[in-house]
Amino acid sequence: MKTPAPTADEQIAFLGQIERLLSEGQFVASYKYALLVALADLAVRHGSDDGRSLDIPVSALGESFIELYWRHAVPYGSGISDSGGSVLVQNTGRQAAILSVVNELRRPCGTLSVARASSHWTTALREATRLVEDMPLWKLQRLRGETLQFLYSASPMPDHIRLGPGVAANLRRFHGLVVRLAQSEWLRFIQSLPANASILGPTSDLEGFLFGSERNSLLKMVEPLLDVQHGHCFYCGRDLRAGEVDHFIPWSRYPRDLAHNFVLAHGSCNRKKSNTLAALPHLERWMQRNADYDDAVRSAGVNAGMVVDGPGTIRVAAWAYEHAASLHAETWLDSDRVEPLNDGWRSILGRPHNETPLPSSA
Ligand SMILES: [Zn+2]
Repeated sequence: MKTPAPTADEQIAFLGQIERLLSEGQFVASYKYALLVALADLAVRHGSDDGRSLDIPVSALGESFIELYWRHAVPYGSGISDSGGSVLVQNTGRQAAILSVVNELRRPCGTLSVARASSHWTTALREATRLVEDMPLWKLQRLRGETLQFLYSASPMPDHIRLGPGVAANLRRFHGLVVRLAQSEWLRFIQSLPANASILGPTSDLEGFLFGSERNSLLKMVEPLLDVQHGHCFYCGRDLRAGEVDHFIPWSRYPRDLAHNFVLAHGSCNRKKSNTLAALPHLERWMQRNADYDDAVRSAGVNAGMVVDGPGTIRVAAWAYEHAASLHAETWLDSDRVEPLNDGWRSILGRPHNETPLPSSA
């Protein structure tokens, strides 16, 4: 059944409510920010642009929490576990429990992909899911004097929440805005905790540490991508010796590392493309690359500790191109040449698989 997409007024009202949550809500831990980011990400990967509601298993939120806090569980300043420094505090009282859940996984497993495949995963996922349920899930929409139940409510499906009509569409439309707002408040929250003052020091790239791409993981993608691309730059096709790992769907649009989203390119090609979406010939090659070398990309991603989700990555691409099309955006061809985006992306990406069900609970 078709449900109408949110009207312009409804979109503005939605943003107003998000703003109220962030400015009037009470924050004793960083969980509410993480929950907002997780909801926005899941809406992109599983929702649709019409107004239909979306059922999300609470365990999918638990999984997102493990992903979002994965990097936060190591001492600040290093990105490597045993290098001194302290883990940033993310709670006004005792340290946020999600960090010890993540630590229990990190210690034996090292990377997220090893963790997922390990015997520790089920327990950690159960704990993270319970934590989401007990802590932020039913508090996020509660302000001091009122409840703004505009995002979700309990779903008739057990252990699910239901994003109400129009919510997934709004989260998809405003993904960048919602995520940036939540992340900047998250960052300010961490900076505001006195316990973090001595950990942070005067100059620090806190934002990069909390929300950036994991450098070590990117470096691990270089060799396998060079192999897959037969030593050529993904964009210009010329020989490549030392390439840069590029987010095909730019990081500025979807700030998550997904293995299938990476290509290897000249530093100059990468910089020229910058935050623009690649033009359709590139998109076509990218789809073909992921179809032909799915196994190689998967194992490279696992080895680098990335999230490996081929179909999810294509849904992210479809979302990004749809969004760009609605804004009449240009796409990048080569060097300084851009061209308007035409409707061809739809047939390249196939039917967007918006109805793909979320993985059901653990
Ligand atoms: Zn190139």
